Amino acid sequence: MTTTETGMVRNETAPGVAVLEARHVTKEFPVRGNPFGRGKGRVVHAVDDVSLVLYAGRITALVGESGSGKSTFARLLAALHPLTRGEILFKGEKVDARGGRRFREHVSRVQLILQDPFGSFNPVATIARTLMRAVRIHHRTASPARRKAIIDDLLAQVSLRPAAQFTQKYPHELSGGQLQRISIARALAADPAVFLADEPVSSLDVSIRLGVLNLLRKLTEERGVALLYVTHDIASARYFAEDTAVMYAGQLVEHGSSEQVTQNAAHPYTQLLISSAPDPSRADENRVPDIGQPPSLINPPSGCRFHPRCPFAMERCAEEAPPRFAVDDGQWARCWLYADDDEAAAGRAQNARLHGTGAIRRAGRPVPDGEL
Ligand code: SF4
Repeated sequence: MTTTETGMVRNETAPGVAVLEARHVTKEFPVRGNPFGRGKGRVVHAVDDVSLVLYAGRITALVGESGSGKSTFARLLAALHPLTRGEILFKGEKVDARGGRRFREHVSRVQLILQDPFGSFNPVATIARTLMRAVRIHHRTASPARRKAIIDDLLAQVSLRPAAQFTQKYPHELSGGQLQRISIARALAADPAVFLADEPVSSLDVSIRLGVLNLLRKLTEERGVALLYVTHDIASARYFAEDTAVMYAGQLVEHGSSEQVTQNAAHPYTQLLISSAPDPSRADENRVPDIGQPPSLINPPSGCRFHPRCPFAMERCAEEAPPRFAVDDGQWARCWLYADDDEAAAGRAQNARLHGTGAIRRAGRPVPDGEL
């Protein structure tokens, strides 16, 4: 365990028990079309063939721009939508999003924490009433006195003490940070095995973000919860998460430890994200140029979906989707720059010139399906 210069605490031990696993998860949403029928029959390729494992007591960051599919993926993990293809396993057992005991267990043990805490509360219900509803669902046999004690304990776990100071308040009487803590307390009522935190601090003041992230870190460690931290902020992923997966246009394009992905980013999209994050210490010549916009997910680009924006694109990039290349121990990138040939070597040299010392300069090994 280390404390970073920003005050975040990071676990650097090896992954533990796999709790939640996505295998080749794909989600296509049908396009309704306009009143004249245009667009009907087409689909939005929101998430395409994504595999990811979440481990007990470990934080995994899922990073990407708005519209990259990361929130949709979190909702698929929560079984809020049926999958188009692929499967989700909770503790090794397949989850079926159509009901049954396993489905009910899944939705209770896998808890979503949303970006906007104000939007996730009933504005005319007191905090006590909101929490009591969750406690009643998950502690059916508890007496009224026991339920009240559970609420007090939940608030204590998220550092809101004394409980009486919060329970009789309405959501609008609390700050965003306090309300986000209460939404975490509500999720804790279910004794979750997984937190899916979708931009949990993006709507909060900068001054209180660190406190909420450190609370999530503490709960993850103490309760052995697996945490997926969905964010557009790759800098916070570096300090907060052990592992980082990068998503672009519905696909994972890079995965590794947060240290590897942020300090030795292999994929040009990851490099672009890092380069776009504010960093006064970085020289302008080390910024990766951005030459476009995220693509339409109705008609995504052929080959590598990043090729229209990529400063290092080669001819094959538009024709053939790249496989995953292992570029370091436990780190892979879906990019032709790591192929073992002269054209790719020239691309890597150009990448290293632009990206500086953090760039990976050697060819990778194609990763067989199921590995890493
Ligand atoms: Fe760029 Fe080609 Fe790599 Fe895609 S595969 S990121 S277009 S170099």
